Amino acid sequence: MQDLSAHGADQRVIDAMGEIPRENFVSDGQSHAAYDDAPLPIGERQTISQPTMIAIMVGALELRRSDRVLEIGTGSGYQTAILATLGREVVSVERISSLADAARDRLSTLGFDNVKVYGADDDLGYLPESPYDAIIVSAGAPKLPRKLISDQLADRGRLVVPVGSLEAQELIKVVKTPDGFTVRSLGACRFVPLIGEDAWPEGEADAHLDSS
Ligand code: SAH
Repeated sequence: MQDLSAHGADQRVIDAMGEIPRENFVSDGQSHAAYDDAPLPIGERQTISQPTMIAIMVGALELRRSDRVLEIGTGSGYQTAILATLGREVVSVERISSLADAARDRLSTLGFDNVKVYGADDDLGYLPESPYDAIIVSAGAPKLPRKLISDQLADRGRLVVPVGSLEAQELIKVVKTPDGFTVRSLGACRFVPLIGEDAWPEGEADAHLDSS
């Protein structure tokens, strides 16, 4: 993590994080740890991301007030709230329906009316509301999600995604250009697996989660 700290520590992101009560997004019994700089379990073998990692990822999106954002992997909805504070609208997809329902409830209780949380299917992202100015993938992919970049990211759009093995990934920032896209590494990271057609097969991801 230390090698990432130089990147993306944008003051607007830090201010937005200061406005969101993280204790509202952690499981019962975890509130004592809500402000630790650590990932925490949120049920269903998934985790709420580490705050430092969220700051780096959201910072790398270089969000403007007018931006529409796609988040893949709503999880607790904590990062969704930060994105909704900085951008115009957030579309967030989550493949575990109990997590999607809980996140939707939390976000509406906190008064976020510019967020839509959808259940995910096998195709990555949410094509009907594309293109997005920024896309944030909150789970680890085996390879760069090229179809997501070509079909759902707007021209000059930014995308961040952890790419690597099930055990360890590199955080990759993609910027879409008129000729294709540029790619830059932001350092090492470790996420739960991204599951689906263009990602890890469910069985393989489950075996990994059972053993970790
Ligand atoms: N940023 C979230 C992290 C959630 S963990 C938070 O801070 O709470 C990653 C989430 O991605 C998990 O909830 C997992 O179920 C979800 N996920 C994995 N593959 C997915 C896919 N293809 N589409 C949508 N969600 C996915």
